[in-house]
Amino acid sequence: MTNLKSAVFFDRDGTLIYDAHYLKDKKDLKLFEKTAKAIKKLNENNILTILISNQSGVARGYFDENTVNELNEYLNHLLKQENAHLDGFYFCPHHIKGSIEKYSVDCDCRKPKIGMINQALKDFKNIDMTKSYIVGDKECDINMAKNADLKSILVQTGYGNKDKEICTPNYVAKDIEDAIDWILKDILISK
Ligand SMILES: [Mg+2]
Ligand SMILES: [Zn+2]
Repeated sequence: MTNLKSAVFFDRDGTLIYDAHYLKDKKDLKLFEKTAKAIKKLNENNILTILISNQSGVARGYFDENTVNELNEYLNHLLKQENAHLDGFYFCPHHIKGSIEKYSVDCDCRKPKIGMINQALKDFKNIDMTKSYIVGDKECDINMAKNADLKSILVQTGYGNKDKEICTPNYVAKDIEDAIDWILKDILISK
């Protein structure tokens, strides 16, 4: 149990990139201005950066899993151009009311359920859950944090400005950079 690391679990749409509403085309994938700079701060502090995203567009038949993988790779490519990177990528392709039978199930991974976090814990093996966080723009992100017993930060980009009325994160951030600065301070305090 040596070398445990903090992790920050990120929502994608509306948190790291503009919410393009069922994004399926690279040309519509645009980082927020401060995203790379913020992620880089975590990379430099040896904190794991892990994407966890609901992508019910797969179950709805709007795009396939391969498209999601390609978009996530492209997202990392854009980050790497600015010397930042994400360490892991998880997404839930399911939705109970989907149109593709295979994906139209009541799964354990759609946020606010915590299947994606449990999978990351198995894959990485060194995540310190007592010093890890979730950053997202929706109620389901904040409720996932509660279900996983993690601290949560709601960013007011994407749906955050609306959803702050209906959920109780540990911190409401202006944007991704504000969220990361709060996390870095919080880790220092709790050491
Ligand atoms: Mg979102
Ligand atoms: Zn799922």
